[in-house]
Amino acid sequence: MVKMLKRKVWDVNRCSGCGMCVSTCAKNVILFPEDSDHPILEVKEKNIGWSHVVVDTSFFCEKPCEESCPRLKEWKSGPIIRIISAVSKLPDGDVIDALLISALRYGFIDGAILWDVERTSFKPLPRVAASEDEILKSTGFQHLWFPILTALNDAIYGRGLRKIAIVGPPCVIQAVEAVLSSTNKKLEMYRERIRLTIGLFCDGIYSHQLVTNEIVGRFNIKPYDINTIKVDLRDALLRIIMYDGSEKVIPLSDIRKYMRNGCARCVDFTSEWADLSVGDLGSEEGKTTIIVRTPIGEKCLDYAIREGIIEVAETPVNKEEIQRFVLSKERRKRAQEVDSLLLSMLDALSGVKSREEIEEMLKLIGGK
Ligand code: SF4
Ligand code: SF4
Repeated sequence: MVKMLKRKVWDVNRCSGCGMCVSTCAKNVILFPEDSDHPILEVKEKNIGWSHVVVDTSFFCEKPCEESCPRLKEWKSGPIIRIISAVSKLPDGDVIDALLISALRYGFIDGAILWDVERTSFKPLPRVAASEDEILKSTGFQHLWFPILTALNDAIYGRGLRKIAIVGPPCVIQAVEAVLSSTNKKLEMYRERIRLTIGLFCDGIYSHQLVTNEIVGRFNIKPYDINTIKVDLRDALLRIIMYDGSEKVIPLSDIRKYMRNGCARCVDFTSEWADLSVGDLGSEEGKTTIIVRTPIGEKCLDYAIREGIIEVAETPVNKEEIQRFVLSKERRKRAQEVDSLLLSMLDALSGVKSREEIEEMLKLIGGK
């Protein structure tokens, strides 16, 4: 039984839905049903003699799934080398496309796991891209949830990629960092193959029901009329850009119910553990903020600038604007503390923690 995942993540709605545990499950028994808030452990039943028993499918396993789950780790602030505002000089690609294409040209990577949508239903899906053309074809992150890291094995075993870049929100980047910093032998293949992470600014991600129940119904349109969906945090609006060039908006407060439960427990706004973090906030309209966090991220950006596919804007980044959203998301720490308390109370019931310890925790939370 994957006790930690079940008790500390799935049962208390803390799963971010990154999909890493599904990919790293050594026995292939963790599944992510489409309508579920979190993965599940496959149930197998067996007749032994006269008895009918449920088999523990994860028995005798080193649990690489638990080792790679971002929700079972403590996260401190990540490093920052520099922050710039930039524009893409690619005719049909944004700053993320430009960074990936330069990494591909330079040989840092030979492919990437990207976000895309199925055009007729506007349903999110992962795209494994191994060429400039494939990178440019993907629609990018539309703030619609998919367990993107379930595509990791396809990238490695299906496409044979050896140097992979991953683009995703902070929880996805944290899952990758959990793998990269682990010493679990079962995760070695992933550690060897993942070379670059590009993290996104993220305040929350939505289920596909946002499209089917809200957008389609509210505006009487078809999913295939939608070109892109953008979360505009500055104006607190969801912007839906249609193929005919028109735009429709919904206040973010109206779509809160479609946000994944796990997002309520998430405090990383800028993807602090990525090589490069990317987002609109902090830059003028039409420009993108890039936070360089590691030497590999720096090399990648410098190469894109030298190639002439990214141009650094002269206007400085408005760091206070980013900081406002960082602080606002950090308020979710309270939800994490309540989770810890709940888990401790469960421990108390099973005798693992004492009543005094629980009282101490209550005092800590109450005192804040
Ligand atoms: S957060 Fe990711 S790794 Fe953890 S349980 Fe959820 S899907 Fe699995
Ligand atoms: S808020 Fe963003 S980073 Fe956090 S769990 Fe949700 S999707 Fe992941």
